[in-house]
Amino acid sequence: MKKFYLTTAIDYANDVIHVGHAYQKVVADIFARYHQLLGREVFFLTGSDEHGGKVEEAARQAGQDTAGFVDRVVAGNKEQLAALNINFNRYIRTTDQDHVRQVKNFYLRVKKNGDIYRAKFSGFYCSGCEEYKTASELVGGCCPHHPNLPIRQLAEENYFFAWSKYREFLVNHIKAHPDFIKPKSRAKEMLSFLDQGLNDISISRQSVSWGIPVPDDPAQTLYVWFDALINYVTGAPEGFWPANLHLLGKDNTRWHALLWPAMLKSAGLPLPKTIYAHGFLTLNGQKISKSLGNIIRPSQLAKEFGVDGARYLLASAKTLGGDGDISWAKMKEKYNADLANGLGNLVSRLAKLCQLSEAEFGLSCPDNKIASRGDFSRLMANYQLLSALSSIWDQLRLIDQELNQCQPWKMTSKKKQAQVLSCLVNQLLVVAVRLSPFLPQTAKIIKRTFLAKKIIPPKPLFARI
Ligand SMILES: [Zn+2]
Repeated sequence: MKKFYLTTAIDYANDVIHVGHAYQKVVADIFARYHQLLGREVFFLTGSDEHGGKVEEAARQAGQDTAGFVDRVVAGNKEQLAALNINFNRYIRTTDQDHVRQVKNFYLRVKKNGDIYRAKFSGFYCSGCEEYKTASELVGGCCPHHPNLPIRQLAEENYFFAWSKYREFLVNHIKAHPDFIKPKSRAKEMLSFLDQGLNDISISRQSVSWGIPVPDDPAQTLYVWFDALINYVTGAPEGFWPANLHLLGKDNTRWHALLWPAMLKSAGLPLPKTIYAHGFLTLNGQKISKSLGNIIRPSQLAKEFGVDGARYLLASAKTLGGDGDISWAKMKEKYNADLANGLGNLVSRLAKLCQLSEAEFGLSCPDNKIASRGDFSRLMANYQLLSALSSIWDQLRLIDQELNQCQPWKMTSKKKQAQVLSCLVNQLLVVAVRLSPFLPQTAKIIKRTFLAKKIIPPKPLFARI
């Protein structure tokens, strides 16, 4: 069976995930279920990035020990993922013992290849970004993303990864593999970044104690990014590496598209097939963040709109590559229009007509392979998730129109009526198959309802709000 391995970014364990993070998990879950539908053996990895000064600081502020703090964040994350029916195969934690072993091994392989050296380093460090800033990146002496955090000037002896050695390799790889970085605009961005040259990068810290010790110098810990990226290899079951898809936010493109491939090349491992950097969701035009106090948890969304309703609203909020904005008012409007009045109403109406016809149906479910045909599958293969979802709603509208035109309720011939209804139900069952990666529970109810001999309307799928 063809394997498909996909990963999400692993989130910093300094707080429980919100809808911004959940957008990515829903998208990954949709792709995982879609490839399953196509008959592939899928492995879906998600998890948390638990080391580094930022997490240590969050625990200190909460007045908790770091290990206990991250355990609680992870428990919270798992609850949030369950609220959206995210069906991952493993939740990896960078504190997992197999990961710690993998990182140490990986480091030694890179070192053996001559790509790690010790050198003096000094720079402006932002603990919010967990990275060094150049003087020109600072705004008024502060990190532009974390104006409230103090910038520390650090000078220490660190271990460096010979990133610069891989500049040409990266340029060639990106040019030769058009599917490597998606969307295309991000690949262009990476190539222009590489045009300016590539500096080696410090991959250890003396000042951070909450981390994986450098194998041959335990006085230092490994830089969180060097540690975190390796989770994708740790989490891959036998035979699943290289990953087919790394899904991540666009702010992490450079690490995934330039650092990670160089690390893999150095360690002698194959590179992932596709790195997809998606855009961000804002709420009422604002960044969703703890400091702005506008966080919505996935469970709040599911409570308001149901599990599938919440999945639909997130997946349809924007194109995958671009940015988009959500608000409670807009979500409510879309929920009522597309789900309650659209899909939900069509299902009840058609089921009611089938019931009134008193016919016996006993239809069979279309083959899952129907999802691999036509425009729908082309859109899914091109990561045009929003258009794929719209194409499903186009089909629903067509069924609705046909129902209104044929007016089966006026038919005097019972036989003709049953024929027309069967034809419409068959079309709806095709929709249910294609819908199943997006709205798994809803698709299941539609199939159960219309595959019965005696069709009886289900409870309303989406109550109006
Ligand atoms: Zn910062």
